[in-house]
Amino acid sequence: MIHLLVNATVLTMDESLPVAQALAVKDGRIVEVGGTDEVLWLREDDYEVVDLGGRTVVPGFVDPHNHFSIGAFETLWADCRGARSVADLQQTLAAAARDTPAGAWVRGVGYDHHVLGVHPTRGDLDAAVPDRPALVMHFSHHQCVANSRALAEAGIARGTPDPPGGEIARDKSGEPTGLLFERAMSRAETASREAWEARFSEVARAASRRYAALGITAIQDAAVTPAMARRYADARAAGALAIEVGEVMVGSRGWFERPDDAAPGSLKIFVDGGYRCAMRVTRDGMPRTSGFLFYTREELAALLLAAWRAGRDVVCHAIGNLGIETAVGAIEDAVRAMPEGRARVRIDHAIFLTAELIARIAALGIWVVAQPSFLWDARATSSATSPDPAILQRPFASVARAGVSQAFSSDYPCGSNAPLVGIAAAVTRTSRQGRVAAPEEAISVSAALEAYTLGAARAARIDAVTGSLEPGKRADLLVLSTNPLECSPTELAAIRVLETWMKGVRSNPP
Ligand SMILES: [Zn+2]
Repeated sequence: MIHLLVNATVLTMDESLPVAQALAVKDGRIVEVGGTDEVLWLREDDYEVVDLGGRTVVPGFVDPHNHFSIGAFETLWADCRGARSVADLQQTLAAAARDTPAGAWVRGVGYDHHVLGVHPTRGDLDAAVPDRPALVMHFSHHQCVANSRALAEAGIARGTPDPPGGEIARDKSGEPTGLLFERAMSRAETASREAWEARFSEVARAASRRYAALGITAIQDAAVTPAMARRYADARAAGALAIEVGEVMVGSRGWFERPDDAAPGSLKIFVDGGYRCAMRVTRDGMPRTSGFLFYTREELAALLLAAWRAGRDVVCHAIGNLGIETAVGAIEDAVRAMPEGRARVRIDHAIFLTAELIARIAALGIWVVAQPSFLWDARATSSATSPDPAILQRPFASVARAGVSQAFSSDYPCGSNAPLVGIAAAVTRTSRQGRVAAPEEAISVSAALEAYTLGAARAARIDAVTGSLEPGKRADLLVLSTNPLECSPTELAAIRVLETWMKGVRSNPP
């Protein structure tokens, strides 16, 4: 069967033919892109003509930094994003405990201490869930609160020292409060998911359909433990993934630990923390540093070279300007020793930049994968406020002007999953509450669209098969309710995905 999609505005992302009216799809691939009349000529015995009546067609969105393997569980875990108070959060956790199967940890996700006014404590959690381990994750996914049972199971007691790269918060008497930062949460966080992971195929089936409905046809899961890599293999074998998922591997001891026992494939290295990312600021004329830096430049360069020699791609998480400076320095050193590594490394997040860092990244010619959805969610990205005027936050326009290859992603569930929301945020720099951040760093709709399609596919190194609409590529494409290039920027976030075609198969028909 050949499908002839005609009378459309096709935004191809293909430089040689940026706009077309029609395309033909056969055996999951695009076989022709062009005018309606020329595509209608391709009719075969078995054909379908899809008259799109002027609708817009774009490539399926690619999200190269998405946490599918935790986001998929959101329907099973207690949603604490809406909690307005500690009492709210306690109620949510107590209700979740009733539905949590024996042997599993009670797990809550997404609390925001700015909204609650405080961080909950182990005592707050004990009152809601007294008899079994419970853990509630901060929206940043870089800190969490554990109840007493969970702390005990994770081996965290009064005398436990802070691990390198982590902190166990303590009250005045020295007793752990339950709040764990970065590497201090590794054991508890890993254990909190273990029993749930057996249900991955089931939740992945539903979640991947939700992704497809948002127009996402390919992602990279940006942190996959060896145990989850086995779950992915099972889910794939069961046909549970409605979209393409690539995996970026971390080790078994916790996301932020050295990935020594990561499964084969692309490797994720957390260079600095998340909410407490590594910052270098000048305050009152004095240089200061803050946050967690997990590696020195030398250590990171050695890790990069070892990964490249093993044929692996590397994704460096770096958020703070000191984290980015460390990543950039290490990449410069490693590329000097092994120039072909340049194509095998990228920096994800790169939130707090300076003109100097942007120039060094441009000179390296590596990809940066940023998250415009954070502008929409407008939650604090870091515990460090940056009064330093030399530090630019998510400077998409400056990055593009410097010639850096920039792709977009969501970091879901840390940011909003919908690519059109991310695209709207990159263009308007406006949060859902209407707050505008550094409007001079806005980029054009076409640049944002490319960063979430072809750019994202290039950053994920899957552009040979997807990311643009060209003959030979996979028929991963979307029919949109409105042409993003012609509507007002304020309407972008409300554009609907009417149809998603994945490998030439249509889902969510109108
Ligand atoms: Zn992430």
